[in-house]
Amino acid sequence: MSLAIVGAGLSGLAAAYALKGAPPRVTVFEKSRGVSGRAATRRRDGVCYDHGANHFKTKSKQLRSFVCRSLPSDDLAEIDGDVWTFGAGGEIGEGDPDRNAETKWTYRDGVSRLGKHLAETAGVEPHFETRVTLLTQDDGHGANGSAWTLTDAEGHQHGPFEAVLLTPPAPQTVDLLKASRLDEALQERLIEGLAPATYRTQLTLVLAYRRRIERPPGCYALLNDDGDHEIAWLGFEEEKPGHVPDDHATIESLLVAQMAPGWSRPRFRSELGALVPEVTTLVGGLLDVDARRPRWADRQGWRYALPTAAADAEALEDAGPEAGIFFAGDALEGAGRVGKALQSGLRTGERLRRFFGVRE
Ligand SMILES: Cc1cc2nc3c(=O)[nH]c(=O)nc-3n(C[C@H](O)[C@H](O)[C@H](O)COP(=O)(O)OP(=O)(O)OC[C@H]3O[C@@H](n4cnc5c(N)ncnc54)[C@H](O)[C@@H]3O)c2cc1C
Repeated sequence: MSLAIVGAGLSGLAAAYALKGAPPRVTVFEKSRGVSGRAATRRRDGVCYDHGANHFKTKSKQLRSFVCRSLPSDDLAEIDGDVWTFGAGGEIGEGDPDRNAETKWTYRDGVSRLGKHLAETAGVEPHFETRVTLLTQDDGHGANGSAWTLTDAEGHQHGPFEAVLLTPPAPQTVDLLKASRLDEALQERLIEGLAPATYRTQLTLVLAYRRRIERPPGCYALLNDDGDHEIAWLGFEEEKPGHVPDDHATIESLLVAQMAPGWSRPRFRSELGALVPEVTTLVGGLLDVDARRPRWADRQGWRYALPTAAADAEALEDAGPEAGIFFAGDALEGAGRVGKALQSGLRTGERLRRFFGVRE
């Protein structure tokens, strides 16, 4: 029994976790050099910053118990400050008290620790820098009558596997399926099922300052709640335990600006040097401070940052037992949330256990 998982983001790794100790041999393929996908962290100059998911919440009891008990939690870090809000005109308010009462988590060395804990606890070592470019469905193999061979960008073949789980953002999965060789009716059905899941494109700018950049007291981040400002989110990484040491010699404030889709799309390919003056002017205007001349800056483009609508999960789910092809990830949830990606992966992992006939 064997399973290929495409993507070592949280949903793919949560599915691997759900299969821990079960018979199928699980092989994870990841195009980048590390785990955790869009729950991403970078390190530089003795600081770390979450440039994808800013933090996560564990709203259900099950999710909280999973993160706090099933995975190592020594380095889990609660963020004390609140999320304030601002509108198109830049007027700042204290934010929603109910939402601010919910615990906001990251890890002392960044949110990507969640993916690392998942991979270690599940006992999987992904094949990194292995971009899957083609799936081939071979009829007449495997318990359910079909098997899957994966081809990577270098032309290497992997498999056959009895089942495959696809977890990239929906438009990337659609491209992969279009390039693949599988039953035509199945291919069409899967592409149609994924098509409704569209995504926001966003640019992230990270700005490191020698000096403190002032913000309202008790505020850890600012969220644009009407969707009409150029900045969608502005976070202060020094408010997160462990991210910027108090005695750091050269950095006192580390800002993460998630830019709105309308601003990001036309600038998606722009160089960092061209983006910094514009973003620091916008940040300075919002906070009413001088935000020019950061010590250093960084950028990340997210073509598929957050889903704006959900895929047709029902249409996709039938293909699992029929043909051994499964899906997980925030595309199925229609919302870009760490917790939802974890739940999607855990649920699909349970379906895979049934597919492989694993007894509880
Ligand atoms: C800018 C930004 C801000 C966010 N803010 C928050 C937040 O504050 N709170 C929150 O809860 N959530 C937030 N999110 C959303 C959250 O990060 C995602 O919903 C979640 O991480 C998605 O996990 P996933 O497993 O579904 O997908 P991904 O993390 O995208 O995982 C898919 C993996 O597949 C890999 N892959 C893709 N194609 C291939 C291929 N062909 N071959 C091999 N590997 C492949 C990718 O490299 C990736 O590692 C944010 C996301 C972004 C981008």
